Amino acid sequence: MSTAAEPKVYGWCPGALRPMMSGDGLVVRVRAPLGKLCVNQARGVARLSQEFGNGLLDISARANLQMRGIREEAHAELIGALRDLGLIDPDASAEARRNVLLAPFWGPGDDTLAIATDLSAALTAATDLALPGKFGFAVDCGDAPVLQDTAADIRIERSGSTLILRADGSGSGKPVTRHSAAPEALALARWFLKQGGAPEGRGRMHRLIARRGPPEAHTTPVARAGFTAKPGPVPAGTLAALEFGQMPAAALAQLADCGDIRLTPWRMLLVEGAASLPPLPGLIQDATDPRLQVVACTGAPGCLQALSSTRHLARDLAAHIPAGTRLHVSGCAKGCAWPGAAPLTLTATGKNEFSLIRNGTAADQPLKTRLSADALRAAPELLKEGS
Ligand code: SF4
Repeated sequence: MSTAAEPKVYGWCPGALRPMMSGDGLVVRVRAPLGKLCVNQARGVARLSQEFGNGLLDISARANLQMRGIREEAHAELIGALRDLGLIDPDASAEARRNVLLAPFWGPGDDTLAIATDLSAALTAATDLALPGKFGFAVDCGDAPVLQDTAADIRIERSGSTLILRADGSGSGKPVTRHSAAPEALALARWFLKQGGAPEGRGRMHRLIARRGPPEAHTTPVARAGFTAKPGPVPAGTLAALEFGQMPAAALAQLADCGDIRLTPWRMLLVEGAASLPPLPGLIQDATDPRLQVVACTGAPGCLQALSSTRHLARDLAAHIPAGTRLHVSGCAKGCAWPGAAPLTLTATGKNEFSLIRNGTAADQPLKTRLSADALRAAPELLKEGS
């Protein structure tokens, strides 16, 4: 049951062609083809963010880049410039359908890039496929899956030497090949619609699977594989985390000097081929940095629904969070930055006033109410009391 003011639920995700108004201007979400910006595209996005927006860029939980603070009257010109960079779909429906997330560590021969290329093209062409706005695909074909904890409705994963197509929420799937994976994924999306998975245009695969189970041919078990991303070197380059998933556009331009950039769903960027990265504002490169344990949404004044600012408090409390624990600071009960349960959540109920929820979501029943930001800063042990 929600305990704070009811947040507004839009039921659709903003895109570049369908931006969303926020407290600091339009949010223009760029769905980079195959989750990657080449050097030229990254430099271009950084320049356009400074020219048409407030120079702040977010990375979303679906590995999209959000340009913030875009002036309404500049939107059309911005879209033209992004189109010139190869970052705009033919129309808003195609942009929404091409919701394909790639395992960012893809390498030659693991099939991830080839399947995601086929799937993106097939989704763009499938103009009759009316999927819910948040319906998404994960192509995760490295040696071990890394996206199983990331939201997606249809997954293509590797189990040993076999590629498996799996409906989210099912523990088993159907073997596919490099060439059949994309058409089979589209067939599964059509099955979802035919089975009534999206009444009134909304719905998620895991809810349908909980109601009726997977398709009959989905009998091959898929093992669960836990994965936690950490900043630092990886075989494809170097991973860098962004504080609260945000960075100044200037930092993106400087990162582009180090190589092409892959976007991840973990609020991190992977710079291809880079052995190390320079220190840059907003970048976290130390895997033990306490800021990796806190998440906070945009909050006030950037979000129109926020009841308080969030990130200053989260930054101040980060060093006091016990190792292995996560603190979520949310500007309202919607909980955008961490939709699931967190060990500790502070949900704003007024300006600089929060409720504390333990092992729950931002909308769950609080353990304590009316905690002021100043009181929390002065006595961070308030977070642990009563545990
Ligand atoms: S959770 Fe944060 S970003 Fe989401 S609507 Fe509420 S205040 Fe805005």
